[in-house]
Parts: sequence; structure tokens; C-alpha cells
Amino acid sequence: MARPALHALRAAHPQAEITACGPLVLLDLLAPEGLWQRAEALTGGAGLAGRLRAAHPDAALVLPPSFSSAWLALLSGARLRVGFAHEGRSPLLTRAVRRPARGDLHLSREYLGLAARLGAREVPLPGLGVDAGATREAAALLARVGLGDGPFAILGPGAAYGPAKRWSAQRFAELGGRLAARGLAVLVCGAASEREICEAVAAAVGSRARPLAGVTSLPVQAALCARAALAVSNDSGLAHLAAATGAPTVVVFGSTCPAWTAPLGPRVRVVQRAPVCSPCFARDCAIGYACLAAVEVAMVTSAAGELAA
Ligand code: SF4
Repeated sequence: MARPALHALRAAHPQAEITACGPLVLLDLLAPEGLWQRAEALTGGAGLAGRLRAAHPDAALVLPPSFSSAWLALLSGARLRVGFAHEGRSPLLTRAVRRPARGDLHLSREYLGLAARLGAREVPLPGLGVDAGATREAAALLARVGLGDGPFAILGPGAAYGPAKRWSAQRFAELGGRLAARGLAVLVCGAASEREICEAVAAAVGSRARPLAGVTSLPVQAALCARAALAVSNDSGLAHLAAATGAPTVVVFGSTCPAWTAPLGPRVRVVQRAPVCSPCFARDCAIGYACLAAVEVAMVTSAAGELAA
């Protein structure tokens, strides 16, 4: 979601020394993009604010809406501090920008709006850069699980947000079976916490499927996505990753709103059949997950067919 703003900022200020500050896994993932000179991981350790202050920053672009991120920007000593007005943190910022209602504007455009306060203008978004080492690791992993160079699809049946974002495992399995029948191997991917559902889906698909939850870093997962003939995922990080690499990506939406958070990429189809209660942004549903139940396997295969065409 932040990549369009980060690329716009880099293009607007090619000579600027930029320090990225964020979760280590995301800094690693975005390292091949060449968007910053220095990275500082948010590890919770002491001394981060001091290291940022030592760079004498002119400006801080604060993308997260948390109080702590605005507080860190203040401690960095940056003269200009741009971020969303939120959580009583506006006095910590010099430009506190009011957000539109959730879903009125795509989140990536909200971030671009912040970057525009620092002179950035939207630029064409390249595909997510994939590290050469990660590409080699992905190839080695495919060889280890007996898949070699053949074509494969990626399924992402998990979603850390909650069950209101999870299409049923049975339908993922049925979809995987159809893809396997068309000659694709099926990688069922997700975080370590999603191992159980990934193993269940892979087992139901059969001998052409492999469960790969929790066995890759984000860069290696990105390298797998970049090679995939198709990715089908719930509205999760995996969907965003696959879409950003340019993989043909079908995303099943449940309780949330694609107008706000649809993955960005050149080949993305969203499948959602929204009832009147949608979007509710709930993690659980009290009325039976009608939004997800209404998404049939045929709708997903049809979207995949459109992308292939
Ligand atoms: S309330 Fe409606 S939109 Fe929300 S999870 Fe339930 S069926 Fe889906």
C-alpha cells in the first residue's frame, strides 16, 4: 500500500538521504527497490530515536496512524512532520492531515496524499523488485518439494485478520483440485500460524499440492509469487505480495472493502458478492458469513480465466 508513496517520494527528491524506519521483515522485502539509503528496524531496542536524530532529518513522512510513530517522528528532530490526524497525536505533527471515511479513497492514495505534502507526485509503479538470492532460494525450495520447473498456482487460504476474511477451506480445496486437473502444481502458502489450514487444503487437493506455510521469508515468498501462473488468496498480505510482483492474482473479499484495500498490481481481480451488511470490517460474523458463502468456486475460476486471457 505504501509503495506508490515511497516511489513518488524517491522520484521527487532523488538527491535526498532517505532513512526508512519500519518492521524488519518489510525493510528486507523492499530493500531491492532502492528507495532509501539507510534502514532502521523497529525492534523495540533503545537508541532508535537518537540514531534518527543524528541524521538531522529535514522531514518525516509518518505513514502509520499510531501515536507511537508520530512520537518517534517528534523525537527524530525532523522540522516537518507529516501524518494522519489521529489518536490525539496531531500536536506531535506539523501537518496533521484529516483522513477520508474508511473506503472513500484507496489506502495507497491516502498515503500518496501525505507524500504530496512533501512535494511528491505519483509516478508509474514498477513491479516489486525480487532479490536474486531469494529467487535462488525459491528455486531450491521448489526442487526440494519435488516440483522443479513446472507451472504452479499459489493458494492463500489464511487471513490473520479473522474468519470474516477467510473463504472456506473446502472451497479452496475444490479450486485447488480443478487447478491440479489442468496441470498446475498447487502451493498452499501462508504464515506459520496458518500451517493447519494450509496442510488441510493441500491434503484435500492431493498429490499435486504442497503445504508451504511458515517455511519462507517474505522475499522468498515474493520470488515464488513472481514465478506463479496464478495466485488465489483471501484479502491478506499474501494477496498484496502476489499482486505487487505482477502475478495474475484473484482475491476473495469478505467483510472488508476492496475500494479501500484491494491489492495493487497489473493483473488483479477481486471477487466479492457483497450483501447489504457489507462492508462491516468485522473479524467475526454473527449472521453466518453470507458474504463469503456467496463466493462460489466458479466465480473464482472465471476471474482467473479473465486474467489468463
Ligand atoms: S455482517 Fe455481512 S459483511 Fe460482515 S462478515 Fe457478516 S455477512 Fe460478511
